[in-house]
Amino acid sequence: MHKAMEPFKEAARAIEKARTMIITAGAGIGVDSGLPDYRGDKGFWKAYPMYEELGINYYDAANPVHFSNDPVFGWGFYAHRIDLYRNTKPHKGFELLQKWIEQRQMDYFVVTSNVDGQFQKAGYPEEKIYEVHGSIHHLQCSVPCSNAIWENTESLSVEPATMRAVNILHCPRCKEVSRPNVLMFGDFAWISKRSDKQRSNFHSFLKNCHFPMVVVEIGAGMIISTIRNMSENLGRKHKAQVIRINPRDYHISPPHISIPCGALQGLRGVDQSFSINK
Ligand SMILES: [Zn+2]
Repeated sequence: MHKAMEPFKEAARAIEKARTMIITAGAGIGVDSGLPDYRGDKGFWKAYPMYEELGINYYDAANPVHFSNDPVFGWGFYAHRIDLYRNTKPHKGFELLQKWIEQRQMDYFVVTSNVDGQFQKAGYPEEKIYEVHGSIHHLQCSVPCSNAIWENTESLSVEPATMRAVNILHCPRCKEVSRPNVLMFGDFAWISKRSDKQRSNFHSFLKNCHFPMVVVEIGAGMIISTIRNMSENLGRKHKAQVIRINPRDYHISPPHISIPCGALQGLRGVDQSFSINK
């Protein structure tokens, strides 16, 4: 066998043995759908050249302070992203994972640091998803006047040259500015109620699922390492085998499996390596 094929085969074997699959995903999973992953200031400015001109990096843009100081500017970044995510079709890799789960009738759960709602868009049921940093498609009050979280069904647009929002949204209760229900940088106002509920669903799932367990980790970065830590903890606590798919930071110690590829290429490689390909 060609050496480059070995991790694919190993991963396919781990999935064939498992009765439960946990999918853990970071920003890298979206790259093959055409979404930016904001790698460093350069990566961020490649996606948002207008912010480079304004001298603003990701940490500055994703900052809750704008919603009180300059809401039209604060909303600009999120209005742009909401529109982008609504108009993005999840790539084939999402479908391959669903196919593996269905064919083997596996128990499964998705844990993601992405706020883009792409798993829901790919058809994964809401109750099978834990969004650790919240969802950009949900809103809360920026004050906040209550811990209410509601779905964002409004359409938003942004003036691309200035990244200022054409329209902004308000809290229906106190009429102050509303904001996306996502964890921003230096954020003390994020309401975690929705994510907490998802986490508790995930924990009850772990109590009742079947073993052995396999973790398929896709595109999880090292700078904010929540997802990588989650995969490794599942490995330790539940004796799960972790398959780490990542084009750059792919290292993980055996018995876990390292696949040095982007999301779609990695998932396709595994898909082609099952012993019985239904
Ligand atoms: Zn309010």
